[in-house]
Amino acid sequence: MEYVILAIVLVVALVVAVAAFVVPRRRGGAVPPAPGQPAERTGTVALEQAVAVPSAGPLAAEPMPVEPVPVLEVPEPTAGRLVRLRARLAQSQSTLGRGLLGMLSRDRLDDEAWEEIEDALLQADVGVAATGQIVERLRTRTKVLGTRSQGELRAMLADELVAALDPGADRSLRTLPHSDGRPAIVLVVGVNGTGKTTTCGKLARVLVADGRTVLLGAADTFRAAAADQLTTWGARVGADTVRGPEGADPASVAFDAVRAGIESRVDTVVVDTAGRLHTKSGLMDELGKVKRVLEKQGPVDETLLVLDATTGQNGVVQARVFTEAVDVTGIVLTKLDGTAKGGIVISVQRDLGMPVKLVGLGEGPDDLAPFEPEAFVDALLGETGGAA
Ligand code: GDP
Repeated sequence: MEYVILAIVLVVALVVAVAAFVVPRRRGGAVPPAPGQPAERTGTVALEQAVAVPSAGPLAAEPMPVEPVPVLEVPEPTAGRLVRLRARLAQSQSTLGRGLLGMLSRDRLDDEAWEEIEDALLQADVGVAATGQIVERLRTRTKVLGTRSQGELRAMLADELVAALDPGADRSLRTLPHSDGRPAIVLVVGVNGTGKTTTCGKLARVLVADGRTVLLGAADTFRAAAADQLTTWGARVGADTVRGPEGADPASVAFDAVRAGIESRVDTVVVDTAGRLHTKSGLMDELGKVKRVLEKQGPVDETLLVLDATTGQNGVVQARVFTEAVDVTGIVLTKLDGTAKGGIVISVQRDLGMPVKLVGLGEGPDDLAPFEPEAFVDALLGETGGAA
């Protein structure tokens, strides 16, 4: 009997010893980054892994399979992005900026010349009301001003364009978590093809660059590729994506995303939505439901409407449907790199009565910039004529 007890004790001791050796190796091996962890976490995971590789011992001959840890990208800082991306506005710069400056510096500014200036502004999609105002103010100022050097004209034009962009508008993004720890909720809406999903991915990078933790919700369940696209964007910066099966109820995916965001205590949940303009009432019902369901867990802090700058005034007309369905708090104007109609920023803000908060200036991951009227106008006018 004593031998039996001794044998059992020995077997238990052996099992405990083996377990103690194996378990830490597993923990250090393939732990995926926690949801929404910032880029710095990569270093931690890699270090754990390095420590966990067995150097000797009885099990060293059979190393545990180590899953590859994704290398997280470190997005570019958001401050000054518009300045860095100013060359992307080349098309708008040559028509709007350089064209206008050329016209304004003519020797004679008669009615015909002013009509040309007006046409240039209209062609750049500045919009009728804003164009009228800008031209009137420029006419008055050039009359008062005796000498018209290139530098003075540039400064004057810059003033008027900045004034038309409503420089005092609140363009901040409400993306900080609430005092009770709940994450901020950002809903992203817009017509399909405008760059909505891409914008969600780029926005996740903007937030990560600013030190936030992010979770993405793939509530565009009608476009098969959208959830994959979003998951890939998120994985690059360590942001988890909550998704449902194809065709799932967008509202339930959005709800699950926010719940997961609350549980994992991320700072911000960004929810992508479908923008099928099948019928106006269908779209409004769907978006309205997503918003109502989200609000069961807390208010939606920011509703961003994505607009494609290359669609010009048509895009603005379509966008109205969204502003009727949800309370849009800001506009993201994408594809400004692909248009000569940079003036659309002015008309969009005026027509929809809300500020442009972010602009898309390319297909690169960090080609989304916070919108700053002064930097934008400076980029539009280019280097001609010196500083404003
Ligand atoms: P969604 O259907 O609205 O979700 O559109 P996607 O996000 O799939 O984007 C549609 C296309 O627009 C993609 O090829 C994007 O790379 C492209 N896109 C998005 N934003 C920009 C931008 O700022 N500039 C350019 N040139 N392309 C963009």
